Formats: sequence, structure tokens, C-alpha cells
Amino acid sequence: MKISKAKIREKGYELGLDLVGFANIERFKNAPVEMHPASIFPEAKTVIVVGKRILRGGWRGIEEGTNWISYTYFDYHGLLNTLFIPEPLYHLACFIEDHGYEAVPYYPGVPEAKLEGIPYRENQVAPDVHLAIRIVAVCAGLGEIGWSKVFLTKKFGPRQRLHAIITDLELEPDELSQPGSICTRCMRCVEGCPSKAIPHIKENKKIQIKIDDKVYEWADIHTGRCTLSYHGADSRVSPFIHKDFPGWNIDASKQDFSEEAAYKFCWTLSTSTWRKTNQFPSGYIIEGHRMLQKWGEGGSYGICGSRGCMRSCFDWLEKIGKIEQIFKSGRFIKRKRWLLSHRVKSK
Ligand code: SF4
Ligand code: SF4
Repeated sequence: MKISKAKIREKGYELGLDLVGFANIERFKNAPVEMHPASIFPEAKTVIVVGKRILRGGWRGIEEGTNWISYTYFDYHGLLNTLFIPEPLYHLACFIEDHGYEAVPYYPGVPEAKLEGIPYRENQVAPDVHLAIRIVAVCAGLGEIGWSKVFLTKKFGPRQRLHAIITDLELEPDELSQPGSICTRCMRCVEGCPSKAIPHIKENKKIQIKIDDKVYEWADIHTGRCTLSYHGADSRVSPFIHKDFPGWNIDASKQDFSEEAAYKFCWTLSTSTWRKTNQFPSGYIIEGHRMLQKWGEGGSYGICGSRGCMRSCFDWLEKIGKIEQIFKSGRFIKRKRWLLSHRVKSK
């Protein structure tokens, strides 16, 4: 039984999703095989990208410098990525299969931590295939990638997380967003980024892709520096390092780690244990980070809380009326912003 795009979208909204967009498989003709939806499902005809907003209030505690757990727990890995989106996505996939079409639910894990196997058939791509979910969302017409490399929509700006369904149901794709229709190249993301991970447009470091007849481009981010700030090795944005590392003098904005090396460094510091001493009785290397990871359902945790690439960005896009969801209380950034010194006082 054929099922329409309108019915799937309506069902998605009814289930609690905020965004539902459609890409036909032809839009992936330039995608490498290890990131191609048809490498997961060779009969794929359509990729449906779904998303749910990150609450603006989810960041309030980090913006004020007083509460970190709410963001990690509700709006990052804790529930949004592992329950609030996957549950309606799963029901939507069931709805499609009830109409006789196969629906592959796709979880946008951490591509850099992918499983590495060998191809089990000649000319077969090796596991684990991962989609570039932001590019897939562009293919599905949901928005564009901003200068910050964060995916932007007209509804929420940078405030959403995304998953996808790959199906053999053939549907008309949604219209692609016009490049530059949301991102104003204001560079507030660059100014707000603590570790200088986003190059200024004047540096001309950028990535470019073409989908159908449209060219999209964004900054070539220093992902190692971003990871240092995001996952807990930047004392400018972590009061917890200031508690547990007297004498720390590492300036994350001057490091040149690869993304993988940065993950290794951050996760070791943030989640491992150390002997209990009088000076550090918790038994953790950085207790605050460990507790966040633990309370965030044992998955990932956010320390920087996207200070520049999301918070500065939506504060600006809301102000100039570029995005639909605005708030009665006015701008998100209401007070002088805090940033600690990268140097931690010795005790
Ligand atoms: S802050 Fe947002 S709108 Fe401004 S340049 Fe960065 S991504 Fe674009
Ligand atoms: S997450 Fe933080 S460190 Fe990374 S780009 Fe955004 S503002 Fe910069």
C-alpha cells in the first residue's frame, strides 16, 4: 500500500518529532561509499531525516555558569539522543513497515569511533558505515550547514539533533534550502568559541560540497580543539578542572591535537579513576566531569556546551528574526558572559 510524504510527516509530528524531511537517493551521488545510505541498504530509495529541538533552556545553567547536568542529561546524550528522538523514530519506522516498505532506523553514532571490520564480500564496503547526518539533513531539505559546521534550520537555528530512516519507499524529495538563507556569516560563532576551533571567514579555510545544483560551504573546523573544549580539557569553560587540577596551565586554543587524540586525552581525564588521597578524596581525576558522564546515562557529556557555535549563534539569529522560534523574554544572552582563565591557581 503506497503511503504519502504528507502522511509520514504528519505521523512524525504526532509522535513528537519537530522536523521531518525527505531526500531521494540520487542526492547522494557524490557521497563516498563508506558514508552512503545505499551501503547500508542497497535498495534504498529515500532517506527520511527526523529531528527534535534542543531546548533553549537546556543551556541556561551552563550560560549562567551554575548547572551542567541538565544539558547533558536532557539535551545531549542523556535523553534527547538516546530516547526522545529514537523512540518516535522507531515508531515512525514501524508505521512505514506496516505499509509494506522496509525502514532502517539510523542512529547517528560517533563516526570517529566506528567499528572497524573487513569487507565480508568482494567489492563490499567494510563496516561500520556512518552517514554524515548534517549533510544528509541538507539533502533532505531541512536547512543548511552554518559557517560553524552546525546544522541550521529556519525553525530553531542551530538547536536540534538529528536521526534518520533509510527506506525502499520511493518519494519525491523536499526542496533543498538555498545556501546562505539562514547563516548570515556574522562570525559570532567564531568570537564565542573558547578554543578558537572555528576559523574566521577571512582565513578562507572552508569545506565545500555540491548537492544537485547547489553549493554549500562552511568553515574547516579544528575538531581537535573543539573536542578539547567540549569534552573536558579546556579550563576556560570547566570550573571542575579548576577544582581538581591546581597548577594546570594548558591553553586549549593553542593545542594541535587530532580529534582522536583529543578524545583520548579528554575521556581519560574526565572518566578515569585515580587513587584517593587527602587532597583529592573522590578517586576521580576530574570529579565533576566523571559525575556528568555518569548522570548522563553513561554516555557522552558536554562541558563547553557549544558556547559559540550554538549559543552565540541562536542568540543572534533570534535577535535578527532569522528563525521562527523566538521567546517573550528577549535575547538568550542576558548578562556579561563568563570565561575562566586557562591558568588554574596553584594551591
Ligand atoms: S554564528 Fe551562526 S549565523 Fe553567524 S556565522 Fe556562525 S553559523 Fe553563521
Ligand atoms: S562546541 Fe565549543 S569548542 Fe566546539 S566549536 Fe562549538 S563553541 Fe567551539
